[in-house]
Amino acid sequence: NQAATTSGTGSGTAERELLEGLSVDEQRPERPLLLNDDGSPIETWRDNHPYDRKVRRADYERQKRILQIELLKMQRWIKDTGQRIVVVCEGRDAAGKGGTIQRFTERLNPRGARVVALEKPTEREAGQWYFQRYVAHLPARGEIVFFDRSWYNRAGVERVMGFCTDDEYREFLVQAPLFERLLTEDGVMLVKFWFSVSRAEQRTRFAIRQVDPVRRWKLSPTDLSSLDRWDEYTAAKVEMFRATDTAHAPWTVVKNNDKRRGRLEAMRSLLDRCDYPAKDHAAVGKPDPLIVGAADTLLE
Ligand code: ADP
Repeated sequence: NQAATTSGTGSGTAERELLEGLSVDEQRPERPLLLNDDGSPIETWRDNHPYDRKVRRADYERQKRILQIELLKMQRWIKDTGQRIVVVCEGRDAAGKGGTIQRFTERLNPRGARVVALEKPTEREAGQWYFQRYVAHLPARGEIVFFDRSWYNRAGVERVMGFCTDDEYREFLVQAPLFERLLTEDGVMLVKFWFSVSRAEQRTRFAIRQVDPVRRWKLSPTDLSSLDRWDEYTAAKVEMFRATDTAHAPWTVVKNNDKRRGRLEAMRSLLDRCDYPAKDHAAVGKPDPLIVGAADTLLE
């Protein structure tokens, strides 16, 4: 088993277990691909997925370019009309938050489009109002800000890993909708994406992180411990939606086992909400309701 010896810097038990039954496709050392030990492709993306084909790369590249052109028109409109847009990207570890944000922003003018991915709170921040450090990064007029994880850490990783107290957690579930109401009443457009990934697909993505040198930095101790905490994360997710899927700030679920399809539909979903000049309605199309939509239609 080639994979068992390709574990990079880590050699912990959890990391070894991650690669059990998998092997690296030796035909492509430049771009590691994992296979099942018998050489068959890994198809965990099919779990709970409405399509039996992934989007082909060429088709993806073509559609992505078209949508990125529309995103640029949208950014022109954001600047010209002084919009403030917040895009919260949440989901389990390896659900595809960062990769989606990267494609959203790769063609945008960095002046006016920012990504916020905060470290764990410092001691000073831990002594502040919970939302305070996020407020500092909210958009001014003409800006769009993508949050790669957000204040929702408290309802997910902090809850499950025990980084906050029960009281802090309960207080968060009360305050989050109030906080979001303040934002939306002030005219901020708040888009909350929940990227959803199945259990087996999450595991596959962790395994790929482990063998691919350019992805290794993404594999954190938190990721590895989340493997054993799937059900706890599920319970936290259910509570979070119950408390924070509100009329003024609803969640939008993106089924992201096929990352390319998920990214395209997330872009469509954002563009669909914005009425900017010279919009090419045919190019944007309608978001695919089998992939992206309200929590009550898509949440598993
Ligand atoms: P990511 O999945 O965002 O690449 P990690 O898996 O390492 O990063 O961590 C998940 C999240 O948990 C991060 O937002 C991180 O800031 C947060 N986190 C890690 N340790 C703590 C802690 N002790 N207290 C609060 N939050 C933490």
